[in-house]
Amino acid sequence: MRATLMRRAWESTLELFFPAACAVCQEDGASRGGLCPPCQRQVSTAHVYIPGPRSLRCPPVIAARPYDRTASAVLNAYKETPRRELATCLAQAMAQPLRLAQEEIGRSGRTPVVVGIPSTSAARGRRGFDHMEVLLRLLRAQKVFLHGYQALRVSRRADSVGLSLSQRERAAFDSLSLRPRAAGVLGGCAVILVDDVVTTGATLSAAAAALRAAGIEVASAVTFAAAPNRLAPEQRTSSNQR
Ligand SMILES: [Zn+2]
Repeated sequence: MRATLMRRAWESTLELFFPAACAVCQEDGASRGGLCPPCQRQVSTAHVYIPGPRSLRCPPVIAARPYDRTASAVLNAYKETPRRELATCLAQAMAQPLRLAQEEIGRSGRTPVVVGIPSTSAARGRRGFDHMEVLLRLLRAQKVFLHGYQALRVSRRADSVGLSLSQRERAAFDSLSLRPRAAGVLGGCAVILVDDVVTTGATLSAAAAALRAAGIEVASAVTFAAAPNRLAPEQRTSSNQR
């Protein structure tokens, strides 16, 4: 803990004398948002990217952009280095997909509720903050959504390297639990899961399964970035079986 605090103090001091480079192109002249003006425009301009379906268990995803080098650079800088100023442009980019997801639910007269995918306490401790909590707080403050509830909790998750997709999904499912009041609070609502990125869809599928097991409806998911869908044969088979 002490080492983390000292590292952060040192990084803040460095930042004071050597203003940060753009988190994407590494050029000098990043604005207070952490990106140079062209990269800022590229990241935060309203885009909507709808990747193909993953599996029947994974709710349909609406993302701000494909998971490309730009998206990966921004997310990595935001989560793994002390570049929290990037939260503003990430939230800006996610506003449009989140509005679309809510409109879709609103058309059927249901109430959309945002549920963020939680970080493990190990990840929170390492980063010194909860990256999704910060993004959701910004989006809520800007009235992009009205209803949110942190329904999910996550315990320690085993390393997923080398696991198959269904094993990843199982590991994610086993690490998730619902807050005791979740079913009561979310009954009759339609949940939008929100995460920073979707790659295989294992985490979103597991989160949706945990909520659905308690009778909660999961309508869709919104992420900043989404990898193009690569439906594995295993995934195709399991979705056909359901
Ligand atoms: Zn740049």
